[in-house]
Amino acid sequence: MARAHGDPRALSPAAGFVWDPRLASHVYRDDHPLKPKRLIGVYETLRSLGAFDREGARLFEPREATEAELARIHAPGYIEAVKQASRDPELDYREWGLSHQGDTPPFAGMHEASLLTTGGTLIGIEEVLAGRLRVSFNGAGGLHHAMRRRASGFCIYNDPAIACGLLADRGMKVAYVDIDAHHGDGVQAAFYDTDRVLTISLHEDGRYLFPGTGFARERGSGKGAGYSINVPLPPYADDRAYVRAFDAVVPPLLERFRPDVLVTQQGIDPHFSDPLTHLQVSTRARAHLVSWFVRTPYPWVAMGGGGYSLDAVRRTWAMEYLLMLGAPVPDELHDVNPPEEGGERRRTVDRATDTAISEALAAAF
Ligand SMILES: [Zn+2]
Repeated sequence: MARAHGDPRALSPAAGFVWDPRLASHVYRDDHPLKPKRLIGVYETLRSLGAFDREGARLFEPREATEAELARIHAPGYIEAVKQASRDPELDYREWGLSHQGDTPPFAGMHEASLLTTGGTLIGIEEVLAGRLRVSFNGAGGLHHAMRRRASGFCIYNDPAIACGLLADRGMKVAYVDIDAHHGDGVQAAFYDTDRVLTISLHEDGRYLFPGTGFARERGSGKGAGYSINVPLPPYADDRAYVRAFDAVVPPLLERFRPDVLVTQQGIDPHFSDPLTHLQVSTRARAHLVSWFVRTPYPWVAMGGGGYSLDAVRRTWAMEYLLMLGAPVPDELHDVNPPEEGGERRRTVDRATDTAISEALAAAF
């Protein structure tokens, strides 16, 4: 196992779960695929399993992020525009990436809801760095597409980028691992020219899925060359391909980088039942990945992300929190008979996965 700075034995074994019904109460638009209420299912499932009564479990409330924290990543003009859209959502905010019929609509209260979502990630940092938690999980966070002056892809404030930036400002080396089905473009953009934040994104190939970026050739610039790592996987990539790609890229690069802190975006839209993507990952592959995160010695700040099959969100994130606690995972949370490709499609998926692995490793620092 990699040993980072500090003594892993000093880490608290506790796992925090950020929870407040207000994180799950806002509505982007009635027909919008991102339904914050999905978190209620995760919370209720864990509660019914007695997870929060286990040793090391800590439920804690988010706080609101401050505007100074938002400004670590976002332009003041953009923050002002979101505040205005929050008060008066009927106006035209398209220059800021907010559009009524688009992916990221303006809605009443969006600024306040986003402050809480972002603050849920940031309070996790404080608890983890204080040694009171080994990991914190904010299922409401992980909004990785938001840009400096533009909302994008359901994301208003980029809490993972704000988290990475604030950690880097404390002099820490940050490893950001993004396992959402979509490329973590906003986080990559924020740290493209620095070697202090290593970003690794495993996602569906941008030729087939939003946001259309995340190719191996996007590897960072200047001092950051080799510190933006992209692993674009082919449509139909199943557990076998996905686990192979993760194991080939993430553990060796983190071992080489030796971060002070690990930040993960755990969107569950790679799931085979997800209506928006074409990856075919199951709870089995996710358990493999998250168990690896658990075994690392790094202080760890974890977030949710995408996830549009509400039942897959409920079962997978409940499972992932149990793994963080070191608790047993009941069979009922796992997928039955996850898909596995055969024949010509197996060969196509494996070939494309091999290419993605070798190009990602070749691009690395
Ligand atoms: Zn996604």
